[in-house]
Amino acid sequence: MHKYKKIILIFLSGILLSGCSSNMAAVSELQTEEQSETTMQKEWNYAFHYGSDYWAHYDLADSFIPTQEAYEKLVAQYIPQIETLIGAGDWYVDYSPEADTILVNMEMGTTPHSYTYPTSKGADHTIEFSQLLSLKQVNSPVDRALPHELTHSLLGNGKCFSNSLEEGICNYVCARVGIVNSDFYETYQIDLMDMLYCGTKSALEKYYDEDKKKEMLDSIGRGEGYTYAIQTDDGIIWYSCSQCFVEYLVKNYGMEKTMRLIREGKTEDDYQSCLGISFDALKQDWVTDFWQYEPMYTEEEYLQMSRSFLAALQSP
Ligand SMILES: [Zn+2]
Repeated sequence: MHKYKKIILIFLSGILLSGCSSNMAAVSELQTEEQSETTMQKEWNYAFHYGSDYWAHYDLADSFIPTQEAYEKLVAQYIPQIETLIGAGDWYVDYSPEADTILVNMEMGTTPHSYTYPTSKGADHTIEFSQLLSLKQVNSPVDRALPHELTHSLLGNGKCFSNSLEEGICNYVCARVGIVNSDFYETYQIDLMDMLYCGTKSALEKYYDEDKKKEMLDSIGRGEGYTYAIQTDDGIIWYSCSQCFVEYLVKNYGMEKTMRLIREGKTEDDYQSCLGISFDALKQDWVTDFWQYEPMYTEEEYLQMSRSFLAALQSP
């Protein structure tokens, strides 16, 4: 299994960096919006409920949510950013068109990954989000888990006909919405999709034979559940491939059509009705694009940049 260690490091570096990078843009966008007082979006009230006083139980000083206040501030900051990014400002209508409050039930646990429970309508114009945040993912300066799980909540969690599409869009979001950690992408002039494609292609090339590569890519975007368990090495690669696929959809068909497919699609036939191309033809196009794509940097160069960046992040 050790052969996977390095690639996982690369993935995590890539993933972590994607998580930090575009935050800058997202936050400044938010500030601009606040300044211009855009009234297109619903102004949510937020309420919070906790399974326990996690900040008293755990040392979260070095995490991206060192205090309860910091956590609540981030939730209130991310939700409007996510609504804007994926163009889903009307998500709440499915639960309660009159809703004015989002109640976030938060638990923290020692699970290896975070989890979102299905979204539900609560009392008094409230919509309830429930999330279990993994301590392992919380104890990091990088905040991918929170925007990822909040995107699941906005989408109702598990309502999408394809788990691959749902995880892909959640990763798309958490690579763009988050805390400002650095100007990594600006400093190194790196394109998020380039780095993602590079790491994902390298993983498939290095660790899979032809049959396994085909099997992995074939499972992406399918109208079915999780092909691989989340905690496994295959699962990590499946998440990255799913993100690559959603990045490709947004780039080539636009966010609006991609989100229509994710929110309204029922089967693989809906690729045709939402995007105007059959699932099989689209997959063929994507797989060709994926293998023909020539990344700007090599995996080793990206790894080097990631290491320097993470080292700088960790040293005050
Ligand atoms: Zn997820």
